[in-house]
Amino acid sequence: MPTRQPTEPAVRTLRQHERAVRECDACELSAGRQHPVVGDGPVDARLLVVGLVPRRHEDLQGTALAGGPRNVLHEAFDLAGFSPDEVRVTSVVRCRPPDDRAPTTDEIRTCTGHLDAELALVDPAVVVALGELTTAVLLGRSVPLARVAGYRLDVRGVTLIPTHHPVDVVRGVPEAAKAIRRDLLVARAVLDGRMGTGAQARSELAERLAGQH
Ligand code: SF4
Repeated sequence: MPTRQPTEPAVRTLRQHERAVRECDACELSAGRQHPVVGDGPVDARLLVVGLVPRRHEDLQGTALAGGPRNVLHEAFDLAGFSPDEVRVTSVVRCRPPDDRAPTTDEIRTCTGHLDAELALVDPAVVVALGELTTAVLLGRSVPLARVAGYRLDVRGVTLIPTHHPVDVVRGVPEAAKAIRRDLLVARAVLDGRMGTGAQARSELAERLAGQH
């Protein structure tokens, strides 16, 4: 999970978190937003899904995912046996950049304090990262998505499962829909105890590699 210092002191309650996001003007993106993303879903969710940045529809609705990408994610929830009411969905960057451009490194760095605070507040068992950049933020280093998608990674006691961003499905990226469905099924299996956590997966891999010598 991110190790950078939050942009504000660690928040302790949902109300404080939401207020910190809504009142934030720590970067220039605050000037053009309609509604920042505070996070959707229960604060005690065991699964936290993290997207990257709001676009036009998310900004208008103040949600982490809207329209086609939201439908893609909800279909995957349904297939994996998650009710949308039991999952929290949030975003690395909270305010929409102009013309839906990608957020800059500085904007991501500035906004990550809100994600740190939300992670501390929700304390999920499993985090699903949507897309390569979100995975890099949560993992603390860049890794090609193709190398880690669907894996159970151990990030300081939390199981991180990288997958495609649902917008990839809307854009016609081959296999993206299948990968998202697969990776949500993995999240379900970890939460149900049918599949090991990221820590267990790492220990099994170490044992296998040790056995090769
Ligand atoms: S993008 Fe993040 S850091 Fe920038 S103003 Fe919005 S909430 Fe604050």
